[in-house]
Amino acid sequence: MLKVSNRVTSMELSPTLGMSQKSREMKAQGIDVINLSVGEPDFRTPDHIKKAAFKAIENNFSYYSPIPGFVALREAICTKLKRDNQLDYTPEQIVVSNGAKQSILNVMMSVIDKGDEVIIPSPYWVSYVEIVKLAQGVNVFVPAGIEQNFKITPEQLEAAITPKTKAFLFSSPNNPTGSVYSKEELKALAQVFEKYPDIIILSDEIYEHINYVGKHESLAQFDSIKDRVVIINGVSKGYAMTGWRIGYIAAPLWVAQACSKLQGQMTSGASSIAQMASVEAFNGDQSCTQEMKKAFKQRRENAFDLLKEIPSFEINKPDGAFYFFPDVSKLFGKSCNGQMINNPTDLSLYLLEKAKVATVTGEAFGEPNCLRLSYATSEEIMTEAISRIKNALDKLN
Ligand code: PMP
Ligand code: GLU
Repeated sequence: MLKVSNRVTSMELSPTLGMSQKSREMKAQGIDVINLSVGEPDFRTPDHIKKAAFKAIENNFSYYSPIPGFVALREAICTKLKRDNQLDYTPEQIVVSNGAKQSILNVMMSVIDKGDEVIIPSPYWVSYVEIVKLAQGVNVFVPAGIEQNFKITPEQLEAAITPKTKAFLFSSPNNPTGSVYSKEELKALAQVFEKYPDIIILSDEIYEHINYVGKHESLAQFDSIKDRVVIINGVSKGYAMTGWRIGYIAAPLWVAQACSKLQGQMTSGASSIAQMASVEAFNGDQSCTQEMKKAFKQRRENAFDLLKEIPSFEINKPDGAFYFFPDVSKLFGKSCNGQMINNPTDLSLYLLEKAKVATVTGEAFGEPNCLRLSYATSEEIMTEAISRIKNALDKLN
């Protein structure tokens, strides 16, 4: 019988990209949808980075790159890690891939065997779970609700560890909650990991530059565990380069070598032109990241003031990334013309139909009480979106 593999059949579609596609289709039909679903900076890639790409084309960067990326790019990443994070890495420890998403897949495929457990704080980013499943690992969730600002405690982490635990995967600043772990909080987690030397720690730092509470803190700063930490990062969010598809790991040598081996059979090196543009992103003028952060911060203030006035939303002020993640459970049980709202998926569909605002259900992130709104859009559009949401909510009773 001709059929799709069980592997793909049992996989969920990416709900973030799915919702975004749905609003794109509605827009193509002439419907005025506001898309707060996908987490993607609306800014243009800075000009100096674009120029580096033009130059790379002119200079015939049209051949295969080394599998883990050009040395120039891996050196630029090491320089960045030293400059921004005070961390020492050599180019051999860096593997460049087609986005941080592939970086995470590479690492999971390289370190997880069938049945190995991967601890993931919940809420989590949608693709983590499916990537672990692809690697035949077992997802072990550690729940952290709004009352603990969506951050796990060291006690919770330790309670989740079993002899089968192989890896830990989390993001700070966090998608979908915007929470940021402080240095002290990370240190407390590191102290737990010190007791369990066989656990590999994946620290997804893709929102590093979108942090409103101060300096970015990485789990790799703790020497006692650094040789087991894999930093995941890339240019998508900090440099407004989502479509260029460049992500990277900074990892222990054995993990980097395994990822490179895997990548050599799967995709080869990432786009040579996008790599050369990324060299400029890391080595060039960094003020663009600061300017974008400033704009995101302003948008956060404006939108937060409006959202906190919605009585049915319980909302924390996010410290980083560009998402709000309100608890919307007060709305469960309400309806409009027979359309019941029993969970955030119902609410997300209701808002899409009634308010023409696309959001993402918290269920996609493992949190059945919340809804994710991305504010990577202009203040004007965000203000209009919130006003539409309010109007639609007023119709529920
Ligand atoms: N990690 C997190 C937490 C994300 O939100 C994203 C955004 N898609 C990624 C990784 C992957 O980013 P990219 O593949 O665009 O580098
Ligand atoms: N990270 C973004 C999001 O969560 C991009 C979409 C995706 O890759 O899932 O919306």
